Amino acid sequence: MAEELDPFKIAQKQLDEAAEIMKLDKQAHAMLREPMQTVIVNIPVKMRSGATQTFTGFRVLYNNARGPGKGGIRFHPTESIETVKALSAWMTWKCSLANIQFGGAKGGVICDTKKLNPMELENLSRAYIRAISKFIGPEVDVPAPDVYTTPQIMAWMMDEYSRIKEHSEFGAITGKPLEVWGSEGRNDSTALGAMYVLREAAKMKKINLKKAKIAVQGFGNAGHFAFSLAAGMFGSKIVAISDSEGGVYSDKGLDLAKLDEAKAKTGSVDGYKGAQRITNEELLELDVDILIPAAIENQVHKGNADKIKPKILLELANGPVTPDADKILEQNGVLDLPDFLVNSGGVIGSYFEWVQNTARYYWTREDFDAKLDKIITRSFSDVIATQKEYASKGKKIQPRMGAYIIAVSRVAAAMKMRGWY
Ligand code: NAD
Repeated sequence: MAEELDPFKIAQKQLDEAAEIMKLDKQAHAMLREPMQTVIVNIPVKMRSGATQTFTGFRVLYNNARGPGKGGIRFHPTESIETVKALSAWMTWKCSLANIQFGGAKGGVICDTKKLNPMELENLSRAYIRAISKFIGPEVDVPAPDVYTTPQIMAWMMDEYSRIKEHSEFGAITGKPLEVWGSEGRNDSTALGAMYVLREAAKMKKINLKKAKIAVQGFGNAGHFAFSLAAGMFGSKIVAISDSEGGVYSDKGLDLAKLDEAKAKTGSVDGYKGAQRITNEELLELDVDILIPAAIENQVHKGNADKIKPKILLELANGPVTPDADKILEQNGVLDLPDFLVNSGGVIGSYFEWVQNTARYYWTREDFDAKLDKIITRSFSDVIATQKEYASKGKKIQPRMGAYIIAVSRVAAAMKMRGWY
């Protein structure tokens, strides 16, 4: 894998850059460059044919100085330990930036969920939890859904963990359905948080969101809700959307119900009638006010960054912009808001679910949204304030670096107080 696209090398490079700017203590820097614990498991699963297939899974606890590990589980055919390590580092920074009582972790299984029937998917989900059960728990490390994992999968996983513990442990996993004490609001909290960030950024850039044109890459949990919320909350026009098969574009704006219909009928949004078919690459280069990558990592890279010029790039996916592209975007005046600020609504929602599970007391949807707004709006202001503080000292930094400096300094301070260095 080329260095610049190895996600863990990217995560380390970003930390190194922050460490230099903020003059981070060398011992803290060394500790924060590597995960505290990396678990790799090979999981035998009974398939419908009666044969056993072995899947490889990962769970990485990056840092727990500020609280239990926290991070999603991805079921993806190209999952790798490097990706999981990188994502666990980003979870650490994300939880720290949001200032919630979690460290960072991540998990994944190499598999193609499209090739598994429901029974095989359940068998795999339960077997993965059995394999990592010693390394997770409400006070240890709390998994959640991510790419190609669902609330149903979280319910099976919570159930499997509870069987091992011989009592229900609802707080062991978040992103669960409401029937097993998931939280009101958790389902769309990633996209809702991103909308609160977008609202603040648009205010700062004096962009009228009612007149804004938006392109969204990805039509999964994050992308779908981003579409409906941007249209619903601001009246924005979503002119382009895509999934792994390709995308569609219409200057007049797209209709969500018709997109759902196309996806259900043809398996992809590119079956939508009355719009121009485009590739994922073309979607990124459209002339729009707001670009929302909401699919996978490394989509904006040095090969295409010069052609990508929205006013705001809202990183709803994890790691969609490579470090080389970061610099090009900045030179072109794009306000690139980093993933671990923009998509932190998901983990803030997970935190709310865990808090409610732990207290056994449940909030209303209004409570949830108001608390999310408060936390993520504060994170956005903290990032902008840090940028300004460094600018006043003659050092120009990007929002990503501002976010890093806040997050890393909080984790380093907790490690220091705990006597780790
Ligand atoms: P999902 O599985 O629900 O959807 C993924 C979407 O990306 C699908 O529409 C898929 O077709 C599309 N996709 C896959 N490969 C693609 C490719 N090569 N090009 C274009 N599109 C492609 O996943 P999700 O939960 O929506 O997550 C999307 C991103 O958001 C990920 O980076 C994830 O880590 C991040 N994220 C999600 C949450 C959450 O709560 N769902 C929270 C934080 C971050």
